[in-house]
Amino acid sequence: MTLRPVLSSLPAYVPGRTVPGAIKLASNESAYPPLPHVLQRIADAAANANRYPDNTSSELAGALAARYGVPADQVAVGCGSVSLCTQLVQAVADADDEVVYAWRSFEAYPIITAVAGASAVQVPLTAGHVHDLDEMAARITGKTRLLFVCNPNNPTGTAVGRDALVRFLRAVPADVVVALDEAYREFVADPDVPDGLTLLPEFPNVVVLRTFSKAYGLAGLRVGYAITADPVLATALRQTQVPFAVTSVAQAAALASLEPAAEEQMAQRVDEVRRERVRVRDALRDLGHDVPASEANFVWLPLGERTVEWAARCEDHGVIVRAFASSGVRVTISSPAENDRLLAAAADLG
Ligand SMILES: *Cc1c(COP(=O)(O)O)cnc(C)c1O
Repeated sequence: MTLRPVLSSLPAYVPGRTVPGAIKLASNESAYPPLPHVLQRIADAAANANRYPDNTSSELAGALAARYGVPADQVAVGCGSVSLCTQLVQAVADADDEVVYAWRSFEAYPIITAVAGASAVQVPLTAGHVHDLDEMAARITGKTRLLFVCNPNNPTGTAVGRDALVRFLRAVPADVVVALDEAYREFVADPDVPDGLTLLPEFPNVVVLRTFSKAYGLAGLRVGYAITADPVLATALRQTQVPFAVTSVAQAAALASLEPAAEEQMAQRVDEVRRERVRVRDALRDLGHDVPASEANFVWLPLGERTVEWAARCEDHGVIVRAFASSGVRVTISSPAENDRLLAAAADLG
């Protein structure tokens, strides 16, 4: 058989490893299972699994529209926001069109760009591990169709502030789409980091991507959403969706997660992560690691050439972290007890 040549050159998406008996701090998941009433709604939806789901997730899109005060035709639901990233590239980029993103950033961007047949333009982060937005704007050409800005950035946890982001958006031509990947938005504490939705009225080319996988703790069910300034882009995301990609169970769980009681519980879990990430960062810095401030549910250890060995030795201590070879280690902030295990391992490793 003949496969497309691009397949042999793809970087592999490395999922966080799961090792029996070890704790997994490798995939930015919630430490806690779904809330009881969400589990009940999952079970109720599962009882109707002989039926196809609502292909456009209209009830969930409506609930999201109401929550954020936008028209429902500006909302597109997807099978995780990584699927929406893929649909976005498919919607805007033809072969050899350019997709610009920071590097290092979310490891799915290079894969989906390559699979779509588009060209990737990777712009290095600054020395402080932050998006270099001026350089990203400078790299726009007549072929650029899309820029991803991951805010806060995975895997470094750093975030860009309002002034820098607005200056950048003003520099991007109106016909080039900017995806603000806000998978970790709920964890942001710094008031200077803008909520992407507040930028939509001024910038019709912006799309905000969010997910139920992280703060809402539904990573296993695969549901995320996009909110666009222009309904045409939301329609394009529905056109590029794999039919029935968002299961009825995922739709029901997401809807249940938006109820006020669930939002309150989620906020408490998020508060714990915000407290813990400061505690973990301070402890790692006391051990001599140069950990940037994080606005997400993980911290970044720029270990360079020590990365792979450090991660392997962590695993010997029963703690699975995510290593990006020659670059650094990303550690998910979990429950206080699991974070203590990470800190004990780190203290032992030096
Ligand atoms: C986790 C993550 C996503 C999406 O996750 P889904 O589970 O597909 O919703 C998107 N972007 C970034 C940067 C992430 O870290």
